[in-house]
Amino acid sequence: MTQNAVETQTKNGKKSDKEYSIEWFEKTCIIKYKGKIKDRKVLKFVPFINSLGEAGVSIIAWLSVIVGYLSLMAVMIEYTGKISYIWLVILCIIPFSLFCYGLVLTPYVKYVGITGCKNCHKVYAYEETKNPEIKEVSTEDSYTISITRYWKCKYCGYMDITASPENITARKEKKLKKHIKIKCENCGKTELWLEYKKPDERSEENIFTRIRYYKCEYCGHINLKVEIKSACTESSTWESRGSDPRILN
Ligand SMILES: [Zn+2]
Ligand SMILES: [Zn+2]
Repeated sequence: MTQNAVETQTKNGKKSDKEYSIEWFEKTCIIKYKGKIKDRKVLKFVPFINSLGEAGVSIIAWLSVIVGYLSLMAVMIEYTGKISYIWLVILCIIPFSLFCYGLVLTPYVKYVGITGCKNCHKVYAYEETKNPEIKEVSTEDSYTISITRYWKCKYCGYMDITASPENITARKEKKLKKHIKIKCENCGKTELWLEYKKPDERSEENIFTRIRYYKCEYCGHINLKVEIKSACTESSTWESRGSDPRILN
């Protein structure tokens, strides 16, 4: 890493675990912050997870999606127009819930895969010991995300550390050709700026986040413009999320 860091920005929220830091090395920036320990409530309903691990979660996720979808279609075909609308909705609740459960479970497949113990070789053995650390590295032409998790095996006590992007896809996007009005969060001046470097885009579980960079030519501060969109609907549009670049969950 070069020593010509031109700027370090640190944001402090109300709690210490809300902190994030941004370091700049010319057009490369490194963003670091703490993530959350993964909530495992949804995995409690997966049978045989302690013996099948990742495979068990994968099978239940796919079965739930397929059986839920087919049952939903069967109910609709069989009963539409024959029973009241209310009864049709009631009959759809279970298949629809099954379908949704499968979708919710899918992102956990990789996570459960990481929890196999390297020492005693038991599956779904690791428990997280502290909050993970997330590091995002953005250069002019590349954008990578790494989540470092800290583990302890619940069977043999083996301690381990893993780093991977998990389910996050990160990529570079094209710069906008037009000037955008930005108020510098450092010096407060408002001006029309072109983007400083190519924007970054990441997606996780149908949530898309885009980070654009604007350098203030008065004070040199690099302002972040973060936008978010849900890909659930065709009509979903990018909404501003201020300057906080962190992953939400
Ligand atoms: Zn172990
Ligand atoms: Zn400024």
